[in-house]
Amino acid sequence: MWYEHAAEQATDNERRMHEAYRSRQKWKAALVEAVLGHEPKGTGGCTCGASESPCTSVRIVDATNRGITREIERLGGLSRRALEAELYGDDPWRINLILDDDPAAGRSAPAA
Ligand SMILES: [Zn+2]
Repeated sequence: MWYEHAAEQATDNERRMHEAYRSRQKWKAALVEAVLGHEPKGTGGCTCGASESPCTSVRIVDATNRGITREIERLGGLSRRALEAELYGDDPWRINLILDDDPAAGRSAPAA
């Protein structure tokens, strides 16, 4: 009896841990994607249209948590494929357009 209760509790704790991890990953991905959309333009300013770079949006994230800024900088240095894997690799519902972009023709072609 006590064993069944302990097993149920452990399963419930594991489920909550996975939910918390997924939630964290979604927040992380959203923040990273938003910040990576702000890049210095060659002519000055930010790609968001601000006249300075880093713009206010990036400076707010940096002022809030420098560690997050450093992590976003690290992620920004990855290839798009590596970034997708890191941000969405554990999300079974996401369709990886980069890895799944083989031509449709030939995939289901009948064997000759
Ligand atoms: Zn910007």
